Amino acid sequence: ARRPIVIANWKLNGGIDLLCSSVASFIGKHYEAEIVVCPPYIYIRDMLNFLQHSEINIGSQNVSKYASGAYTGETSAQMLKEAGCKYCLIGHSERRAMFRENNASCQIKVQRALENGLTPVLCVGENQQERENNVTKDVLIRQITESLEGIKLEDGSICIAYEPVWAIGTGKAATPEMAQEVHQFIRHELSAQYGETQAQSIRLLYGGSVNKDNAKQLLTQTDIDGLLVGGASLDPDHFLTICQQA
Ligand code: 13P
Repeated sequence: ARRPIVIANWKLNGGIDLLCSSVASFIGKHYEAEIVVCPPYIYIRDMLNFLQHSEINIGSQNVSKYASGAYTGETSAQMLKEAGCKYCLIGHSERRAMFRENNASCQIKVQRALENGLTPVLCVGENQQERENNVTKDVLIRQITESLEGIKLEDGSICIAYEPVWAIGTGKAATPEMAQEVHQFIRHELSAQYGETQAQSIRLLYGGSVNKDNAKQLLTQTDIDGLLVGGASLDPDHFLTICQQA
């Protein structure tokens, strides 16, 4: 069985006091779901210290495609691993839209993460236009196939987050049925490419305007194994309620 997972993507929000208050209530408690928070790089160490008596794991929001060298401003997978990260978001739509990331750069980043013992959380999803043009499935196949090209997967070694761009930060989450349809499709594709055992071992997360009121319904869908939460993860009441439902 796939253990449910809830990941907080804090994006470019802080400071440390806000982030600590978002997760303070998790310290010393046990949850069914695996809980991960992805702070801005600069707070990774602080969060690890703050959360040392909790079960929460830390992830990064990005990773460099380079291992080392003259790449000003970059942070490598090895450094993130050393700092204590367990997960690493890759190819978030904001990075694709604003920082020129594409499937080819994601492929390198997934490789870097795996080589260094981080679990990549590959983010995929169609935009509004693509959904209207009925090409959602083509977009997803391309994103997944190209981002994982030539990569050898072990059981459960990656997660995939389906985040429709039109649902991110808009308050318009996909309905549980819509999300399930896409997740089922993704698992089917993974099965075709990697075999059924692999496909069943990969956790698929939904992201996009998740809040405490829609979390439960999304999580009860067969192929939705977890949630990637933006805005609501900064609100202690929302985030706790979401995690308790997973
Ligand atoms: P929101 O939950 O704010 O819509 O953001 C989703 C997201 O981008 C998580 O990675």
